[in-house]
Amino acid sequence: MERLEYDLLLKGGTVIDPRNGVNGVRDVAIAGRKIAAVEANIPARRSIETIDVTGLYVTPGLVDIHAHVYAGTGLRGAFCGDYSLYPDGHTFRSGVTTVVDAGSSGWRNFEDFKDRVIDRARTRVLAMLNIAGHGMDGQREQDAREMDSEEAARQALRHKDLVVGIKTAHYAGPDWVAVDRAVQAATLAGLPVMTDFGDFRPERPYRELVLERLRPGDISTHMYLRMMPLLDGAGRVLPYLFDARKRGVFFDVGYGGGSFLFRQAVPAIRQGWIPDSISTDLHALSMNGGMQDMTNVMSNFLNMGMTLEAVIAASTWNPAREIRREDLGNLSAGAPADVAVLRLAEGECGFVDTFGARMKGTRRLVCELTVRDGRVVWDRNGKTRQEWDELAPDYGIQGDARWDGMLRHPERER
Ligand SMILES: [Zn+2]
Repeated sequence: MERLEYDLLLKGGTVIDPRNGVNGVRDVAIAGRKIAAVEANIPARRSIETIDVTGLYVTPGLVDIHAHVYAGTGLRGAFCGDYSLYPDGHTFRSGVTTVVDAGSSGWRNFEDFKDRVIDRARTRVLAMLNIAGHGMDGQREQDAREMDSEEAARQALRHKDLVVGIKTAHYAGPDWVAVDRAVQAATLAGLPVMTDFGDFRPERPYRELVLERLRPGDISTHMYLRMMPLLDGAGRVLPYLFDARKRGVFFDVGYGGGSFLFRQAVPAIRQGWIPDSISTDLHALSMNGGMQDMTNVMSNFLNMGMTLEAVIAASTWNPAREIRREDLGNLSAGAPADVAVLRLAEGECGFVDTFGARMKGTRRLVCELTVRDGRVVWDRNGKTRQEWDELAPDYGIQGDARWDGMLRHPERER
């Protein structure tokens, strides 16, 4: 029997791969768990399965670098507990193949998180360790004695393949201890810091955070927060922000359940203050609010004036670079075969910020199909499937374990 070169071929779509400067009609061939080729016109006969994705956008699997997925601990009212969500129920259906848990766990409970969630999820789950040892348990995040830079760095280095940053969040004190210890830990471990600045206090101005305390490559999340010193009295973006970006500090969305305001975002985006990375801050308190999911957050930015290419870059290659995982967020030959296939639906629609205000829109991204690790794991309209009444009357399990990740194929062993 002839051995085919490819397991899966996505044919006829418009590929947007910012890492490789591609924005045009291309075919994407996958062999095993890797991207094999992105070229014009790869013949269908060279692949076991070919999916016609004409009229759709084919992008690297989306990389959401701010989410909370440390579920299952039983802790009430905590992000390392009931506010977290199991990732697979939220990721693939919106094109996300990699999710970064932003500090729900700390150095003390990371291994529990790994055992409970990371090792069991089909989504690629990476983590930023909270500088507070117990992570976001809602109690000990304020306790400076829990912020041990050396322990955090040690845990990060022990799990180099999974830990991609150090997080500090929700700190309410007047001093810089949470930020400084996070930066210390990150320096020891060779990782970036992500800050959720917590309370904005006059004793520790945000301006000082992004101009002095954070290092180039560190990330400030919740960039369109109500408290964020973003616009002057006349509605102009404050110049220090552009200086901070010039220094190399990254600005991330972290939409969440209370961190995104149209009054801040719309004027800022009009003036070019666009995000380096688009992220959801997915958790139980954001999932059914204005945030919804990754493609909805991306659609917000599309309707606020960002180009589709910029929105895709901010959801794939940019976040991959921020977490220093340049193997992700691109469709280079040899990259992990994580792919999103998106439809751009035109027509009247609407978006809601985390304060409940609406913004009208005309374009919405919808995830049609997701490939993770070389297999189709989400197929909204059954594009990979044959019509039921064209199959034999006694049809059994359809598909092929080499490309199909949705059905239970007894022969799947990888
Ligand atoms: Zn968060």
